[in-house]
Amino acid sequence: MLKPGDTIGILGGGQLARMIAMAAAPLGLKAHVFAPKGDNPAFEVSGHFTEANYDDFPALSAFSEAVSVITYEFENVPAETAAFLDSRKPVLPNPKALETTQDRLVEKTFIRSLGLSCPDFIAVNSLEDLKAAVSSLGTPSILKTRRFGYDGKGQARIADEASISSAWDDIGHAPAILEAYVPFSREISVVAARSQSGDVKAFEPCENEHRHHILSRTLLPAAITPRTGWAAIEAAERIGAALAYVGVFAVEFFVVGSGDDETLLVNEIAPRVHNSGHWTIDGAETSQFEQHVRAIAGWPLGSTKRRGKIEMINLIGDDVENWPDLVAEPGLKLHLYGKREARPGRKMGHATRVTPEKDT
Ligand code: AMP
Repeated sequence: MLKPGDTIGILGGGQLARMIAMAAAPLGLKAHVFAPKGDNPAFEVSGHFTEANYDDFPALSAFSEAVSVITYEFENVPAETAAFLDSRKPVLPNPKALETTQDRLVEKTFIRSLGLSCPDFIAVNSLEDLKAAVSSLGTPSILKTRRFGYDGKGQARIADEASISSAWDDIGHAPAILEAYVPFSREISVVAARSQSGDVKAFEPCENEHRHHILSRTLLPAAITPRTGWAAIEAAERIGAALAYVGVFAVEFFVVGSGDDETLLVNEIAPRVHNSGHWTIDGAETSQFEQHVRAIAGWPLGSTKRRGKIEMINLIGDDVENWPDLVAEPGLKLHLYGKREARPGRKMGHATRVTPEKDT
């Protein structure tokens, strides 16, 4: 168990690391961020940081000496980096969670092994495989690289048989899966924390809207039946237990149908704090970032109670230029990530509106 004054090591220097470091401070814990050279907004809020590559083993070794526990803000931590660090200091969530979620084929096979449903998928290693997979799953379908995909990157939609070879070219002939297209009614996610003693506390499922494959808005309460909500939380608990997980994770779902006919398909698991949990900073009794710090520190988890009706808006690219209006809106909570350049598709900040439920 960590004590106040101890240091949490964080791999990755983006907004998620920044918000983890900011949540550690009020608990009396220090943060040491490790990230390669670049725009690392987390450096600005951590007392210590190391700017080095993930294969710089002398730098990783010194980093591990300086911290009590190591966590990460992204799932593509190289396996050797995680193993090297884990032999020196606890890496939480454990490297098995990384291994399972870094590869879509491994991830989906794992989800099915737990008795949970996900979209139909077929492994694809060649154009011939892809042609066979399309004739089996039909069109439209979605080709996704097994590794390094996020926010719609490494994905190509196959609308008809004529687009098969261009889709294969689009993903650079990388090992992939073909996934059946899901005509979902909505997308939801469960952000949950699992403590070192196996206690799980989930935030209420939230509803997510995407624009160009990137999360645009998160809303609570989600327009789903209570039964669907419980099933989503139960699925997250099962995933957390099977991974012997410690920390915060998110499970994204497609909801198919509506009312009594609603069913859930797991889309993906994120072994980290998640964009759809940003509302918890202002809208829940404990934020996902504090919850993550509590879990990896070996402390008890906090209350996940929601404070009202929630709308979280992502500020992507130029959206951030609207900050003067947002900051002038009474009650709105603005979070800017301190990134230098507002490139298209780049997450620059978010804004949260919390409306007490009795006012709605
Ligand atoms: P992913 O990176 O797999 O989470 O995909 C990003 C977004 O693309 C999802 O949040 C969905 O909006 C959409 N998407 C991904 N896979 C599918 C699918 N099989 N069927 C329909 N939409 C999908």
